[in-house]
Amino acid sequence: MKIVSSDNALIQQISMVRNAGVYTLYRPIEKVEGPEVVINGRRMIMVGSNDYLGLATDPRVMEASSRAISRFGTGPGGSRILCGNILLHEELEARVAAALGKKWALIFTTGFMANLGAISTIAESGDIFLCDKECHASIIEGCRMSRCRIATFAHNDFNSALSKLEKLIKTPASNRIFLITEGVFSMSGRVAPLDKLVKLKDIAPNLITFVDDAHGFGVLGGGRGTAHSLGCTDQIDIISGTFSKAFASIGGFIASDDKNLKDYLKHRSRALIFSAALPAASTAAALKVFDIIAEEPERITRLIANATKIRNELAALGFTVNNGGSPIISVSIGSDEAAHAFVMLLDELGIFAVSAVYPAVSRGASIIRLALTSNHEDRHISQIIEAFATAKQRLQF
Ligand code: PMP
Repeated sequence: MKIVSSDNALIQQISMVRNAGVYTLYRPIEKVEGPEVVINGRRMIMVGSNDYLGLATDPRVMEASSRAISRFGTGPGGSRILCGNILLHEELEARVAAALGKKWALIFTTGFMANLGAISTIAESGDIFLCDKECHASIIEGCRMSRCRIATFAHNDFNSALSKLEKLIKTPASNRIFLITEGVFSMSGRVAPLDKLVKLKDIAPNLITFVDDAHGFGVLGGGRGTAHSLGCTDQIDIISGTFSKAFASIGGFIASDDKNLKDYLKHRSRALIFSAALPAASTAAALKVFDIIAEEPERITRLIANATKIRNELAALGFTVNNGGSPIISVSIGSDEAAHAFVMLLDELGIFAVSAVYPAVSRGASIIRLALTSNHEDRHISQIIEAFATAKQRLQF
């Protein structure tokens, strides 16, 4: 008995991409050296990684990780609630809360689990989720697990959110409404109009705002995140995030001022209680990144300058790119086939880029998603631009 049939639509799609010789997923990396990686003995420029501040291979961060291993070992030995809670977790929680301007933070083992574990736990029967259409899979899965009603509004569109909310507040059975969006959208790199969206609280006093700032924390607002950069932290009730991007590590968090929410999640969230704690090495790495951001704020300036440079140069070559001040650059390509072929050609030219195709984006709206880091030098940027120019010409794009 076959478990997955060869007729399965996904299996067929994967075979088609493989047969066309343009399959670039799961490329095995042999070595990472700053913004360069080695694959099959070949050195390439990485322009897909979310290691925005270029600190995942920083000797100071690696040293902090090794010291934590010497003190606490490699594995946590259990979940935080029982025997895996270490002092470093609590130190990191205090640093996150202080940076965001929230009273407390609670660490989960990944950002995915933080969203899933918090969203599915806080909702009560009758609650409604109103999410931006492009919200991350971890948010959607959390909403689904809650078994509450899910409504969506058009991406980053205040008027769409307003008209949906006006309808929802008339729903007789509605208890509370959670408005969920992201600070910086992971694929498009667009920044959400949080300062506008929070005004929706004026028409719905039972509105609870939740922002996933996975890509904004450590980058925007001097590292303090998107809400801080837009001056609306106090109007965001819950902020989630991750250490797997600017913080050069892994791990996720939920932060808020709500007095009882932390205890509630600590004793009710199954993703937290029934999963092992964040390892000491990862916790210590994220803690070290906080020190480095404070000592070297120029890293963030360089990151944004690098992203702006690439964005401008790609636009000058005729590519359609997103605007805005995030480190993510989305280059519109169109069909999935063109995106696969483009990424493959960039690979041959020594550039490791990634694409987002359907269903990660709408059909026919495939993009190449570039993520810049503080460590990319001018020579890397020139090489990336040259490769895009060559690929454009060769593919007659
Ligand atoms: N939220 C967003 C917006 C993300 O982009 C990601 C990771 N791609 C996550 C949550 C999950 O974070 P983690 O990798 O820490 O699980």
